[in-house]
Amino acid sequence: MIFLDYASATPVSEAAKKAMAPYLSEKFFNPSSPYLAAKRVREDYEAAKDTLAHLIGAKGDDLIITSGATEANSLAFSAVETGKILTLKTEHDSILKNCENYNTEFVKVDRSGRIDLDDFRNKLDQNTTFVTISLANNELGTIQPLSDIAEMIKTECKERLKNQNPLPLYFHSDASQSLGLVPISVARLGVDLLTLNSAKVYGPKGVGALYAGHRVKLKSSQKGGGQERGLRSGTENVPGLIGFAKAAEEAKKHQDKNRKHYEKLVEILKSELKNSPIEPIFLGNKKHQLANFCPVSFPGIDAERIIYLLEDDEIYLSTGAACAASKGEKSHVLKAINLSEEEIAGSLRISLGLQNTEEDIKIAGRKIVSAINKEIARL
Ligand code: PLP
Repeated sequence: MIFLDYASATPVSEAAKKAMAPYLSEKFFNPSSPYLAAKRVREDYEAAKDTLAHLIGAKGDDLIITSGATEANSLAFSAVETGKILTLKTEHDSILKNCENYNTEFVKVDRSGRIDLDDFRNKLDQNTTFVTISLANNELGTIQPLSDIAEMIKTECKERLKNQNPLPLYFHSDASQSLGLVPISVARLGVDLLTLNSAKVYGPKGVGALYAGHRVKLKSSQKGGGQERGLRSGTENVPGLIGFAKAAEEAKKHQDKNRKHYEKLVEILKSELKNSPIEPIFLGNKKHQLANFCPVSFPGIDAERIIYLLEDDEIYLSTGAACAASKGEKSHVLKAINLSEEEIAGSLRISLGLQNTEEDIKIAGRKIVSAINKEIARL
C-alpha cells in the first residue's frame, strides 16, 4: 500500500500508542475523582496539556481540549456576538458553515490560494469583530502570512481605542494541517485563537484543541460538569490528549529532518509526473507551501477515474478534502482559486507522510502516469 493522502488522516505514531496504552487500561481513572490514583491521572493530563501548549508558545491553561478541529473551530466562533467576519472562500467547511450564521465578507485570494493583503486591509473596518484564516490550506498546502494580517488587526485595535469603539476584534486561525510541519508560536503569529488537530499529526482521531488566551470571551459549547475552564464539559479524553501531545512533540522534534525528507520526495514525484502526456499543473504556492503537499492538475483527465485505477494497485490519494469527496462534491477550494472546470476535474490532492519512501514515490509517480495513459487510450 502506498498512502498519499496524509492531509486526510495520519496513522497513530508508535510513541503516541505507547504513551496512551496505560490510560486505556490500568490508569483508566476519571481525572476528576477524589482518590490519589485519579489525581495522578489528572496530573498527567495537565502535564500533557502543558507539553502541547509549549509547542505553540502557550500555557496549558490556554488550551481547551475538544473532540477535534471541527469542535475547536465552532467554539472559536462563540467569541462572535455581532459585527462582521472576514475569512476566505478556501477555508475548511467547519469554518465556512459557521460563517453562514454571521455577516461575512470574503477576502480575495490569488490562484495559489494566498490572501490578497490589500483587499484584506480594505475590508478590515470598524465593524469587523472576527477574522478567521487558516495557517495552511488543507487542499493546497498554501501557507498564509498570518503575522502580516495580525499587524493590520493590531493597527485597527489601536484605532478603536482612540475612537472609543468598544467592539472586540479577534484573530482566529485553523492550524489543523500545520503542526509539526512549520514552526508555530501564537505570539509570533499574533493570533488570539488557534485550532489544533491530533488526527493530522500522527495522534489519535477525535482529539483537538483550541488555544484561547484569557482575553477572549468564549461561550461553552456544551453544559455539564464544567471541565476545560467551563468551556467544554464532559469527562476528559485522557488517552486522546496524552497521545496527541506525544505525537505533536515528536513531530516538532523531527520537523526539520521531516521537511527535508518531504522536499526530496516532492521533487522526485514532480519529476515523475512530468513524464505524463498531459502537462501537470502544480497547484498551490511554491514559496509558501507545506513541504508534504503536492496538489496537481492534469486538465482533460477525470481525476476520479485515476483514483479508481490506482486503487487496484493499493495507491491511495484523493481529489480534495475527504468530507467533500465522500459527498461527490467538487472542491470549493479549487473553485475559489478560479481554476477552470477542466482543471478542477483533473485535480489530485497528493499529500505525503512519514511512511513514504523515495522508492514508494517513484512507483506512485509512474503508476499515476500510467493511469493517465490508460485513460487517454480509453477516451
Ligand atoms: N480544519 C481543517 C483545515 C482540516 O483539514 C480538518 C480535517 O480534515 C478539520 C478542520 C476538521 O477536523 P476534524 O474532522 O478532526 O474535526
